[in-house]
Amino acid sequence: MQKGKIGVTTENIFPVIKKFLYSDHEIFLRELVSNAVDATQKLKTLANMGDFKGELGDLTIRIKLDTKKKTLTVSDQGVGMTTEEVDKYINQIAFSSAEDFLEKYKNQANNLIGHFGLGFYSAFMVSEKVEVISRSAQEGAKAVKWVCDGSPDYTLEEIDKVERGTDIILHIDKDSEEFLEENRINDILHKYCKFLPVPIGFGKKTEWKDGKSVELDEDKIINNTSPLWTKKPADLKDEDYKAFYKELYPMAEEPLFNIHLNVDYPFNLTGILYFPRIKSNLDIQKNKIQLYSNQVFVTDSVEGIVPEFLTLLHGVLDSPDIPLNVSRSYLQSDSNVKKISTHITKKVADRLQEIFKNDREQFEKKWDDLKLFIVYGMISEEKFYEPASKFALFKNTENKYFTFEEYEKLIKETQKDKNKTLVYLYTTDAEGQFSFIESARNKGYDVLVMDGHLDLHYINQLESKFKDSHFVRVDSDVIDKLIQKDESRESKLTMEQQNELKPVFQGHFPDAKGNYSVILESLAETDQPVLITQMEFMRRMKDMSALGGPMSFYGELPNQYNVVVNANHPLVSRIHEDKEKKCRKELDKFNEKLKPLQDTKAELEKANKDKKEEEIAQADKDRIAELDKKIKEFQDKRNEVLDKFGKENKIVRQLVDIALLSNNMLKGEELNKFVKRSIELL
Ligand code: ADP
Ligand code: MG
Repeated sequence: MQKGKIGVTTENIFPVIKKFLYSDHEIFLRELVSNAVDATQKLKTLANMGDFKGELGDLTIRIKLDTKKKTLTVSDQGVGMTTEEVDKYINQIAFSSAEDFLEKYKNQANNLIGHFGLGFYSAFMVSEKVEVISRSAQEGAKAVKWVCDGSPDYTLEEIDKVERGTDIILHIDKDSEEFLEENRINDILHKYCKFLPVPIGFGKKTEWKDGKSVELDEDKIINNTSPLWTKKPADLKDEDYKAFYKELYPMAEEPLFNIHLNVDYPFNLTGILYFPRIKSNLDIQKNKIQLYSNQVFVTDSVEGIVPEFLTLLHGVLDSPDIPLNVSRSYLQSDSNVKKISTHITKKVADRLQEIFKNDREQFEKKWDDLKLFIVYGMISEEKFYEPASKFALFKNTENKYFTFEEYEKLIKETQKDKNKTLVYLYTTDAEGQFSFIESARNKGYDVLVMDGHLDLHYINQLESKFKDSHFVRVDSDVIDKLIQKDESRESKLTMEQQNELKPVFQGHFPDAKGNYSVILESLAETDQPVLITQMEFMRRMKDMSALGGPMSFYGELPNQYNVVVNANHPLVSRIHEDKEKKCRKELDKFNEKLKPLQDTKAELEKANKDKKEEEIAQADKDRIAELDKKIKEFQDKRNEVLDKFGKENKIVRQLVDIALLSNNMLKGEELNKFVKRSIELL
């Protein structure tokens, strides 16, 4: 029997392995099973080349638990190892300063195991003793047994073993007894080994016989040795892709489309990506892209490996060229990974373009489910924006879909304002903003629906991409102001009459309710009598701040609304006439008093018009201040009259309520009162 120390410079590497790899102990099984797969594949290759002449026979890899002996065994019938090979591959750990290295990179140690040929040694994370029993496939080879108890000392001896191949026997240590549980092992195998190319048996198939379950003499195979992505796309049907999706994500809804990736130059990549229906953030969390290396599962956190928006896709990627056993930061800077990532982005865009071109109807039908994904891609990846801008769709309030180009054509003639800016109107809530949409449509304008999670960012981006264009929410001003044309409409009321109507309405918006300012506009007679709008800029800033980020101070500001009174509406004329009848006398009383004060003030100001602030005589300044005070006094009194009139006038209140109602802002008691008043008025 040979005795020796395994080839590391340090006294004892195993405590180091155990300590640093604590978080991810389960991967030892992935490492051992993939070694068994490698050994089996090597044997097949040798057979193909004629270098192995024996019978291949059954190649199933078997995992066995022995709870009494507390062992877990991985057996294969692959190439096996000769004594020399055990010495070379197992005893000589490939790099000498393993301990230093692990110390330095302890956070990334999980990823390092396989990379530095420490895969086999990960067995010591869970074992107090490991035995390797192996007989090489070489003719006449003697079987060999290697035992190591976790110190660098090992023993190596010749033994009898009939079958070709290798058994790795782990004597599971006390801290790791979870790995003696059948369910735990089953879970790990399902996670990492589900698609390995050699059959893997764990336990036996069972059958119900006479009311109880009996074991059959047949392996229970846990893997699918030829998963769909390894097959030729030409041989596959739509159903196959759907079935494979179910295999990957049993609980998920049917996907929208799939892409079969199959590249062998300049890197090797296969895989199938699915476009899921993304309805909520929850879906995004649950089902992820799985990354494989030669059918061995590596990870399902592909962030940083593929562009972020692609992480919304589902499916599998398999590439032996992605250096999977190194750290994430290394991966992100790896040029192969970058190329792969760019390639996938392009393929995804191509596939969408193809579906759009070949079957627009289907594409439109699925657009609402696809939109979040595509918009996310356009916002976050410049490389995706370009191709996607050819097939991304706008949807309008009539549920019609347009490409960017088509939509521009549609609105180019009608929605340019006097400065030649093309104005895109949109709604975030087609029901809540219905009356505004109506008046835009009455003018022959079109309104887009932009009610998605990302649309606020999307709109900002589109504004930066589209030339001489501007997006405004349809309720952010009266329609004539949103798209200002040259013509201006005559007003039925004089400026003075308009000014008198302000307090009549303003009284219905006490300060406590937020920041409402009444303005009069000369709109069409057929437009709404009263409208409540919120400035686009302010609203967008507040919406952005609600999403967090640098704009968050806007969130602190109160909401600011304009109450737009249509000076040309017949009902407003009626209010005006009513006001004339009831208040004229009283108002004129104040106006008579105001007139001389205002005249005097105007004269004084005229006299001082060309002077600088410091050149104006103090006496004049005092006089103006005094006049202002008096003017204000009378104005306040006059406004009180108007305010009182406005509050007593049922039509004013009714119009205000209707405006609030069409913005979804009339609630509770006020709503109740409105309903009662409406009935009275009828
Ligand atoms: P890697 O798999 O990256 O080469 P490992 O530490 O996992 O590193 O394995 C070291 C070497 O031990 C392998 O390259 C292989 O030569 C040998 N080996 C391990 N397990 C087996 C096995 N089941 N059958 C044959 N050879 C094996
Ligand atoms: Mg290995």
